[in-house]
Amino acid sequence: MSPEQLMSTVLETMALRTSLPTPAHAHEAVLFDLDGVLTSTTELHAACWKQSFAPFDADREYVEHLDGRPRHAGVRAFLDARGLPAPEGTPDDVPGTWSVHGIANAKQWLVDERLSRDGVTAYPGSVRWVRALRRDGVRTAVVSSSANCSAVLHAAGILGLFETTVGGDDLKRLRLRGKPAPDGFLEAADRLGADPARTIVVEDAVAGVAAGRRGGFGLVVGVARNAAPAELRAAGAHLVIDDLSEMLS
Ligand SMILES: [Mg+2]
Repeated sequence: MSPEQLMSTVLETMALRTSLPTPAHAHEAVLFDLDGVLTSTTELHAACWKQSFAPFDADREYVEHLDGRPRHAGVRAFLDARGLPAPEGTPDDVPGTWSVHGIANAKQWLVDERLSRDGVTAYPGSVRWVRALRRDGVRTAVVSSSANCSAVLHAAGILGLFETTVGGDDLKRLRLRGKPAPDGFLEAADRLGADPARTIVVEDAVAGVAAGRRGGFGLVVGVARNAAPAELRAAGAHLVIDDLSEMLS
């Protein structure tokens, strides 16, 4: 290698290093998505959506239109993609009525039924990392589009590991936009008094990764459980992992 080649390699390496986000241990808070990151309710949600809309491609259409979105936005995105016009309806529509609210209410009814019947399991690797963060004094919060956020954390026995939760009900009450807007993550960082630049966002959905980047968070970690690693990277994930236990080493 000539001295010029060597110098250009060194410069490239330095540029790469300086463009890397801050390492995990330098952060003051971690904001977790719920479904697919802390708890394995993605299958439950996909099954309930499938029962609400048939026929439905649970893998592809779930990832494209429904995963990580607030329930009503998910219904609208799905119907628009299918070219199926449906009236908006009202929040009181009986579950199963042909309206955006009726379909969303059907899905919620199915989720409530399955939550009480089957319970929820937290991913062991996620619980280990969250416990390690708490021991190190790192602040933690959960940000989810789900109106069931606290109920799911409670059912999984991990509600006490988080200082605050920003769920679907908070988004509605505070008039915050759902993911891919960064509003929920910014609200959680604000409640913790954490600087977004020194805060980690952990997400498994493309819309959630995009929200983390739009919010200017210091490190956005994509968990490749449903979406492909390449999709999460394209949405802006700094780092893509398969399981949160990888953050422990
Ligand atoms: Mg998720």
